[in-house]
This record gives sequence, structure tokens and C-alpha cells, in this order.
Amino acid sequence: MSTTKFDPATNLLNTLHTDQVFGVNQSISDSATFTFEDGQQMTDTFNGEHQAFLYSRHWNPTNLELSKALAAMEGTEMAWVTGSGMAAITTAILQLCKTGDHIVSSMTTYGGTFAFFKNWLPQMGITVTFVDISNLEEVENAIQDNTKIIYTETMTNPLLQISDVPELSKISKKHNTKLVIDNTFTPMIFSPIKLGADIVVYSMTKFINGKNDTTAGAICASEEFINALIDLNDGTAMLLGPVLDTFRASSIHKNLFTLHIRMKQHSLNAMFLAKKFKELGLKTNYAGCKDHPQHELMTATMNPEYGYGGMISIDLNTIENASKFMALMQKKGVGYLAVSLGYFKTLFSNSGSSTSSEVPQSLQDKMGLSEGLVRYSVGLDNHIETTFDVIKSCLVELELI
Ligand code: PLP
Repeated sequence: MSTTKFDPATNLLNTLHTDQVFGVNQSISDSATFTFEDGQQMTDTFNGEHQAFLYSRHWNPTNLELSKALAAMEGTEMAWVTGSGMAAITTAILQLCKTGDHIVSSMTTYGGTFAFFKNWLPQMGITVTFVDISNLEEVENAIQDNTKIIYTETMTNPLLQISDVPELSKISKKHNTKLVIDNTFTPMIFSPIKLGADIVVYSMTKFINGKNDTTAGAICASEEFINALIDLNDGTAMLLGPVLDTFRASSIHKNLFTLHIRMKQHSLNAMFLAKKFKELGLKTNYAGCKDHPQHELMTATMNPEYGYGGMISIDLNTIENASKFMALMQKKGVGYLAVSLGYFKTLFSNSGSSTSSEVPQSLQDKMGLSEGLVRYSVGLDNHIETTFDVIKSCLVELELI
């Protein structure tokens, strides 16, 4: 079954196999190493003259199936799966950059990515210029002769800005750099490769797996790039060894097939809450609202059937307000005061003091990250109206509205 426009969910469903050996779910490969018929076959495999599984850090049947499913969903030739989102990001970056190279990155990214760029990469002689990714002139002006990567998140963490991937792609191609996109907040909603990105990275810990039972990551790219990553002699993935365990790969693979339904429900619930928050007069940031600075850009570049995503933020001005509000919401059962996102329960955190705490205060101020920002990852609640009533009662009790 196929449709003419790019359809991540159908592409994914079409990867289901009919191989009797596997049953309806793929068997879990429980081997770190694999046998060869004879010494010659082993030598040929190591020389790249024979295709076979040789060692699980390189490839194994379970990770290969999950990777093929992710590649189909993303529209890439291949993918490779890692033990965390940070493993995917750092592996992809270190594959592309060597000492003396330079990266242009959005100044709003996940705090761990920011810290890797700001504190870790300089130790390797790799420098990063942080820019306002919505200012395309600033992006282009930051490019140097040694720039290898333009890096951003499709929907940035925690400010929920939308990156203009088609325009960034033009700039990237003009200057012969690679456009690397973290699509963690918006799987299926955005298909960055179709918009001109070169490499897509994911924290599968979040929406893709959707169960908060493991960390995991993925790199989706050309076959050439993935093969280079796992090259026995100089591949970053092969030599640093960030591979995902097969038991987790198997469970994530099964969860992937409900992703399209989950994304639609996260988006529906988030849109409902965002509208209600606005009616209460709260400073609300949701890409689905017309007053979001990149609402039109998102509308023009997204796959519309999955909605505007599950992430909202509201600004309660002070860290004290944010703190007591989140504690009360948790007490009343709205969800959990916890970092991370993409879970079936609603999660909320104060970004400035948690997942973006690696970003220095001066830069938090520059990017407009308020200390009272509460970031919601809206859950799969069946009756979001009831959830809203409870949230409202917390605001009233604390005299925040
Ligand atoms: N990318 C984004 C946008 C994130 O929000 C996170 C984690 O919060 C990561 C990457 C890192 O993923 P992981 O925690 O799986 O290493």
C-alpha cells in the first residue's frame, strides 16, 4: 500500500515482514557473536567481501530490523540504533568532525547537547558557534571555512522554536556542510530528510519508545554514512561502541508501530490545553497556536495528520511559582514532576533549573528562557477536559490566576 505524499506511518507498517522464522514479532537475537562456516568466510567478512553478521557491536538481526523500520519511517536509506539519544548525537557529530573543525548550532538545544558542544568538543579542538536558529542571516554569517555541520532541533528544547529546515538546507548545501537535525520532539510530525536535512538523530527514550522504560537513540542517514559509522577500522560507532542492546531494540521496535496513534493523541491533548491556558491568560507557548512565531512555518513544513505535537510551555515568571505549581499538580494526579517527555502520563519540569541548567544564565536570558518556565509533555489522557480542570484548580489554589 502506498500513497503519493510521504507517509511515515504507512512506510513503517509496510516494513512488517512475512518471514515465518520470525513469527509476527521478530525474535530477539541473543548473541554477541556469530558463527562462520570456515576461516575464509570470516576473513572475507572482515575485509568487507562477504556480507554477514560478525559481532553485535557492529550489527545484529534485531537492531537491523529496528533500524530498517526507522529508515522507512524517516525516508533515509539506513539507520543505526544506540543506547541513548546522547550516544546518537555524539557519535554522529564525532563521525563528521575532526580536530580543527567547526559547528554552527542553534543556541537552544537540549542541555546535554549544549554542554557537549560547549564543554566537551573544545577539548578535542572542535569549536561551536551558537546562533539564533530562526535568524537565517545569523546562521549563514556564522559559517567559517572549517564549518562541517549546521545543527539544530526541528522543535527546539525547551523554547519550542521551529527550525526552517528547507532554508537551513539551502545554506548548508551552499557552504558544503552537513545539516544534522534532532527530531526527538516531533517524530512523524516532521520528516527532516524530506525537507533537505542530511542526518536525523533521535532520542528514542522519548516519543518513539513512549514508555519511559529505557534510554535509546537512533541515527538515520544514507547507507554510505551508516557504513562509515560502523567501519571496522575508523568508524566512530564501531570504535566507541554505543550500540543498543537487542532486548531493548526488540521492545522499542514493537512500540514504534503505535507511534502514529500516540502522536495524534499527544497533539490533540496539547492543543486543547494550550487553548485553555490562553483563555486563562497564561503566557503560553504552543506551536499549534496562531501567535507562535513559527506557526505558519510549521504548518507549511509538517506532515499535518499528526498535529502540532505534545509539547507546551507556560511562563509563571518565578522559579518559586513554577516549583509549588508542579508539586501541587503531581499531588493532584495531573502527572509527574520529572524530566523527559513523550510518556503516556503528562510530565512537567522547570527547564531553566533542570534540562537546560547546563546553559549559563546569561545565555538563558539572551534566548528568552524564563526562570518560571514550566514545560509540559502532555500525556495520552482520555479525558483531557478533566485534566485541565485539575490543573486550573492548582492555579486557583496557588493564586497564580
Ligand atoms: N535530544 C533531545 C531533544 C532531548 O530532549 C534529549 C533528552 O532529554 C536528548 C536528545 C538526549 O537523549 P537521551 O536522554 O536519550 O540521551
